[in-house]
Amino acid sequence: MTDVLVVGSGFFGLTVAEQLANDPGLKVHVIDRRSHVGGNAYSEAEPTTGIEVHRYGAHLFHTSNERVWDYVNRFTTFTDYRHHVYSTYRGEVFPLPINLGTINQFNRSAMSPAEARAWVTEQAGTAFSGGAAAAANLEEKAISLIGRPLYEAFIRGYTAKQWQTDPTELSADIITRLPVRYTYDNRYFNDRYEGLPTDGYTAWLERMADHPNITVSLDTDFFDEGQPLNKAATVGQLPIVYTGPVDRYFDHAHGPLGWRTLDFESEVLPIGDFQGTPVMNYADEEIPYTRIHEFRHFHPERDYPSDATVIMREFSRFARAGTDDEPYYPVNTADDRTALKAYRDLVDGESGVHFGGRLGTYQYLDMHMAIASALSMVDNVLRPGLVRG
Ligand code: UDP
Repeated sequence: MTDVLVVGSGFFGLTVAEQLANDPGLKVHVIDRRSHVGGNAYSEAEPTTGIEVHRYGAHLFHTSNERVWDYVNRFTTFTDYRHHVYSTYRGEVFPLPINLGTINQFNRSAMSPAEARAWVTEQAGTAFSGGAAAAANLEEKAISLIGRPLYEAFIRGYTAKQWQTDPTELSADIITRLPVRYTYDNRYFNDRYEGLPTDGYTAWLERMADHPNITVSLDTDFFDEGQPLNKAATVGQLPIVYTGPVDRYFDHAHGPLGWRTLDFESEVLPIGDFQGTPVMNYADEEIPYTRIHEFRHFHPERDYPSDATVIMREFSRFARAGTDDEPYYPVNTADDRTALKAYRDLVDGESGVHFGGRLGTYQYLDMHMAIASALSMVDNVLRPGLVRG
């Protein structure tokens, strides 16, 4: 007997499943079309070196949300990893996010914080006199924050490769994720809590699913009518939490929503250290990849081989609708927003089905955000509704 069906075993789906399995003790069936749990947070050991590789791109856990931090610590401990990123621009390496060190290296200067601020304000020009708050798109936001020369060096080429969309059509939110600092602090995230799961993402995700009330069926596609828990057989029969793509659920009735997908090229190299840091971005537009990850540096505390390393080049392109391209980043153009609104109306009419997570809501969610939103759906919608039901 199943009380609730959860479609998708990423952080959103597993959080909902774990919460409902514990309280009120419902029988939860989680299905996933992939052959592993965890969605894009899944990681595995590269077989020849044992180095943990994040198969769907690097995942760095950080949050300032006390409740989320307490919750995730029930399933794993965290290392004291602190994320740092560097960027190669025209053959020179600079620290990110853009900070006083980046600004002074870029200008070959020794400006104080106040001098650097004045320089940026001058370079930002008068176009956005309302400052960052008045900026309507990614380009205006970036220029208001860091001025035109730094935008052109570190943001324009990278963003062109990452999005292939005119930066004036991209949402200012994308860049709001990157802090700008007038100190030499180059920690990538501002959050209070940060770390990587001590024994890896997969162990953490599997612990979330490890409950007598939870059944997980892998290689099980919700849209495959050959398997019993398919859409036609389950909608209206039992409560469903759906974390797959919202447009796919409605057979693309309002057209496909735009997504970016990533291609990864991994290599095992016979050297102990390739780049000396976990993530190196490549700002130049001529270099086809956006960044290179070197996974050993995510876990300096582990006993990894000293004569081998695993690197992964990341390439970004449009996902082709109706193919196996994995959707990673919502593009969110004006057309996408119009279609999303129409899908939201369909969602409102689909009683008994709850849409959540990055794909189900067409929103870029960090892991901690997916978990926080799952916890609030459980508190505000699922527990009250299911208990009443
Ligand atoms: N970005 C950039 N240059 C960089 C790093 C980031 O222009 O070197 C911009 C780019 O538009 C990117 C956004 O900032 O999409 C967010 O980048 P971040 O690396 O934080 O996001 P992630 O892709 O890791 O989720």
